[in-house]
Amino acid sequence: MNSTDAAVVKTLLDKPQNIVIIPHKNPDGDAMGSCLGLQHYLKLLGQESTIVAPNDYPKFLKWLPGSESVLNFELDNTKAKKALENASLIFTLDFNDLSRTGQLESNLKESNADFIMIDHHQQPSDYAKVTYSDVGMSSTCEMIYKFIEALGRIGMIDAQIATCLYTGIMTDTGSFKFAATTSQTHRVAAELMERGADHVAIHQKVFDTNSPSRLQLLGVALKNMVILENHHTAYITLTQEELDASNFKKGDTEGFVNYGLTIENIIFAVIFIENKEEGIIKISFRSIGDFSVNEFARAHFNGGGHTNAAGGRSELSMAATIKKFESLLNDYKAQLTT
Ligand code: 5GP
Ligand code: MN
Repeated sequence: MNSTDAAVVKTLLDKPQNIVIIPHKNPDGDAMGSCLGLQHYLKLLGQESTIVAPNDYPKFLKWLPGSESVLNFELDNTKAKKALENASLIFTLDFNDLSRTGQLESNLKESNADFIMIDHHQQPSDYAKVTYSDVGMSSTCEMIYKFIEALGRIGMIDAQIATCLYTGIMTDTGSFKFAATTSQTHRVAAELMERGADHVAIHQKVFDTNSPSRLQLLGVALKNMVILENHHTAYITLTQEELDASNFKKGDTEGFVNYGLTIENIIFAVIFIENKEEGIIKISFRSIGDFSVNEFARAHFNGGGHTNAAGGRSELSMAATIKKFESLLNDYKAQLTT
């Protein structure tokens, strides 16, 4: 974060504020880790804050220190609305367009609070008083570390903050293996370990939580995988029926999309997951190399994200979505090469 923005933030945090912190809809490890890490830090500064998540988040993150006090806009609607109405300062973390907050969007648009955006996705919208956007960062958690550093307060990072931030960096980098991982990411992770993040315990709590039904669902997903060798593409479909048969719970499909990329010569992997309640097919896109799934998702599936990891949605049926996807691939043949 540059020194001008740091000075603005310092002035804002020098006076008592009613602070609300917002992750994106369907919050992941980076979204929750950054919100909770920031909340613990603000508390050390004497600032109380409320985290309002647009909806529920996976069980494998519910051990994070402070997660018990997170408000879910769907379940704790009255309390969450009150916090938003009273807010004088709102942090939005791990997203850069208010549409990423689903139902919360209108409440945020109506708010008179000052906004601070901290995010690492491409093409940020212009809604914040302070926009700290850096697409070169591995994760928003790495940015929260840099944010605390810019405020000159690295010494305040305790085990709780370190645990939250390490978790988000670890999940968003695929355990430090995605291209967005830099030498700086490792330096930040090392510092967080020295400040109390227990990497073995964090890894176990996040990744060693398979239920038999999740593994069965993974089996269904892998069986459903379609490989289009000519396009160096692999995709998976999961219908609502298949999810229900495996007793699907939020977070169960996390990471499934990555299996496609483990196949030799596959550089584009996609998973289509039906959500009957919302009437959509939720899509995750992953790539290796220069093929931008951010642009692909933006152009065709009402989504976005990063060059190598993006999400989107389709309001068509599963069959029609797949048809549209497969026909689009022909237009990208030149880019889908190894
Ligand atoms: P995932 O596939 O894990 O849901 O998301 C991959 C990346 O794309 C994440 O960084 C996520 O924030 C972003 N992303 C996922 N869905 C959407 C979407 O609908 N719109 C935009 N702009 N980004 C998304
Ligand atoms: Mn992130």
